[in-house]
Amino acid sequence: MSSALDKSAIEHRNFRNDDFWKEIPGWSSVTRGEFADHRWQTKNSVKKVDQVQKLLGARLSPEVYQDMLDGQKKTPMNIRITPYIFSLIDWDDPMNDPLRKQFLPLGSQFLPDHPFYLEDSLSEDVDSPIAMLTHRYPDKVLFLPTTICPVYCSYCTRSRLIGGSTDSIEKETYGANQKKWDDVFDYLRRSPLVEDVVISGGDAFMLTAKQIQYIGESLIQIPHIRRIRFATKGIAIFPQKILTDDEWVEAISNVQKLGRAFGKQVVIHTHFSSHREITKWSQMAMDRLFSEGFIVRNQAVLQDGVNNKIEDMIKLTRQVSYINIQPYYVYMHDMVPGCEHFRTTIKEGEELEKAVRGTTAGFNTPTFICDLPGGGGKRHVASYEYYDQEHGISVWTAPNVKPGQVFTYFDPIHKLSEAAQKRWAIEGEREVMVKEAKKKAGL
Ligand code: SF4
Repeated sequence: MSSALDKSAIEHRNFRNDDFWKEIPGWSSVTRGEFADHRWQTKNSVKKVDQVQKLLGARLSPEVYQDMLDGQKKTPMNIRITPYIFSLIDWDDPMNDPLRKQFLPLGSQFLPDHPFYLEDSLSEDVDSPIAMLTHRYPDKVLFLPTTICPVYCSYCTRSRLIGGSTDSIEKETYGANQKKWDDVFDYLRRSPLVEDVVISGGDAFMLTAKQIQYIGESLIQIPHIRRIRFATKGIAIFPQKILTDDEWVEAISNVQKLGRAFGKQVVIHTHFSSHREITKWSQMAMDRLFSEGFIVRNQAVLQDGVNNKIEDMIKLTRQVSYINIQPYYVYMHDMVPGCEHFRTTIKEGEELEKAVRGTTAGFNTPTFICDLPGGGGKRHVASYEYYDQEHGISVWTAPNVKPGQVFTYFDPIHKLSEAAQKRWAIEGEREVMVKEAKKKAGL
């Protein structure tokens, strides 16, 4: 081992801490104190394309502006971006910026959906015994107490529900509803096998302090529930809330401490997908959560042009680890509408996993997984039964979740060979290819 300090090996310890928002013409005079205030961040969140133009003025070219307007006609997700994320976008090169790609869709980037796309790719609605709850694994449930978020991600797997209707899709977005939550708690009291509750949505940042406390306390008091996870992208896109919304932080900390008193785990799962989301603000927010005793884990979504370069994935992994977030999962992109341009192949997922493994401690190495379309649950990216790489068809089983069922995941067609793309273009050939792959899998 060399004793000389290799600066590139510690580059992930450098966090941006300049007044980067002042590069946005509309916020050039916003002070650090204002920018730090969670109320200012919420009030100034960007929700319309014309706001983007007003804020950027001449920095936004008419072509990109028009492209964003076109994007609004095609995307299943509305726009909502915190000033924090908006200011971190490189507005000198918005076309290629990984943050712009995630939150501000362009009409020119959309590709036709895969022929086997599903609006509810993970079959959460099918496995839902009661409103707001998915119960697929015997010991674990997914509770969705709200369907609103502080930002809306263009790649959202629940685009059928989250963030309100758009030009391309009608949705039944819902907010907090204590009566329905009580029905969920009743169901859980009657489900003694359940030990683990994921509170997702939507985003826990959109629940008030009182609601966080109500949900947390109700779940902790159910004797067989042992583990509670609050899911929020907030730390990644809105760290100012952790730093200045004391009431909210106190509420979630109280739940965590109550859980500990009962011998139960209350943790936070967050969602950094690009190292470009990480700044000194993220580190300060994590310092506060860490000092409150929180375990925080990260779940990233693998996205083309956002994090599918080896150096970007390694930096994301090392940087979240450095601020005391455990890299937990990297998901293959679900096969939901309006996302074909984000999707990558299983092969890319496998190659990235190989490249990341060994760059840091094993417990800080994320598992790359494919959440099987049709409700098979999460499988390691290399655990398929058969993979026809030429036609982009992988065949899977999920013996503990849906015994006897066979699942398929499909690579995006535009990444396949020309010959394979031609075959996919013939409607009658699609089922033939799937049958061939299942036969080769022996299923
Ligand atoms: S924060 Fe999560 S639930 Fe909300 S839009 Fe993003 S991916 Fe979807």
